Amino acid sequence: MPKAKAAVLRQTGAPMTIETLEIGRLAPGDVLVRIRAASLCHTDLEAIEGTLAVALPAVLGHEAAGEVAELGPGVTNLRPGDRVVLSWNPHCGTCFYCEHAQPILCAQYLANAAAGFHFDGTPRLSCDAVPVHQLMYLGSFAEYCIVPEVSAVRVPDAMPFDRGALLGCGVMTGVGAATRVAALRWGDTAMVIGCGAVGLSAVQGSVLAGADTIIAVDPNPARRALAQDLGATHAVEPGEAADVARALTQGRGADVVIEAAGATVGFRLSVEAVRPGGQVVWLGKVGVQQEVAFRWGSLMQEKRITRSSYGGARPQQDFPMLARAYLEGRLKLDAMISARIPLEAINDGFAALKRGETVRSVVMFP
Ligand SMILES: [Zn+2]
Ligand SMILES: [Zn+2]
Repeated sequence: MPKAKAAVLRQTGAPMTIETLEIGRLAPGDVLVRIRAASLCHTDLEAIEGTLAVALPAVLGHEAAGEVAELGPGVTNLRPGDRVVLSWNPHCGTCFYCEHAQPILCAQYLANAAAGFHFDGTPRLSCDAVPVHQLMYLGSFAEYCIVPEVSAVRVPDAMPFDRGALLGCGVMTGVGAATRVAALRWGDTAMVIGCGAVGLSAVQGSVLAGADTIIAVDPNPARRALAQDLGATHAVEPGEAADVARALTQGRGADVVIEAAGATVGFRLSVEAVRPGGQVVWLGKVGVQQEVAFRWGSLMQEKRITRSSYGGARPQQDFPMLARAYLEGRLKLDAMISARIPLEAINDGFAALKRGETVRSVVMFP
């Protein structure tokens, strides 16, 4: 097996170090993916800062694209050289939740998450014979990644690796929230709170679903401008958002509000700005022990609130569909890439993400 240069997090809060790791043998159902592009997501940042607990040492990274390098025994749906986007939600397909069409809650997925290894719960990477963990069953800040077959989703060969990478987390989550979780309908009024990669994708999902009015909310004027480039019909600051939603809907409020800011103010705004009987989708998150307070009246009147981690993703179906939407010009991804960086610059890339300077930085592998 090849060795893999990787960014390794050995201590929370410390910079990742660039190291060379050994890759174990491929078990039945495994796929060795040569990573070509891996983008920096806020969930990785949470792991670096320790607000998301992960076993260390670990290779982070869960939004990536690459090509199939080698197949483990029994893999029949892929060929070496296939272009793939990685899914961070491998699922068994047969447990209670999988059978209830909620693969994000798959029993095996949840049971093995804390171990931080492969989907089967055992390691694939090591350094000097010490096992190295993989974030979200991937660990894509590395030249190679061993994933279960279900996590390697084939996309058209024409899909560029860097834009393909975005499909695997932020774009899937945002577009899926609008088109699947919220089930927006033609002519609806949608509000999207927070215009990072997920929120900008939710704006585009609202366009794809046929929303008539799309209100993007962000305190940053540059982000608001970007949201309008990507299809928002209105772009406003948080403080005026609820009033704007009502002004545009004869006083009712938005039919659908998608929260993608991950901030207390965003969660509160989401329920204030939605109309009676409307649909709220929460994509962002705060610390799991943090409490968020609501004015009780803002929760009344038959409002529906759904929390979603992956936009109702069905990766085998959705990733190729999203790739086609990009290739046909219906999904705009180019403007979401703020920087392309080498692996050696990954710590600077996360510092820029934390400062809010970038939508997505993408690590490019030669
Ligand atoms: Zn992510
Ligand atoms: Zn399952």
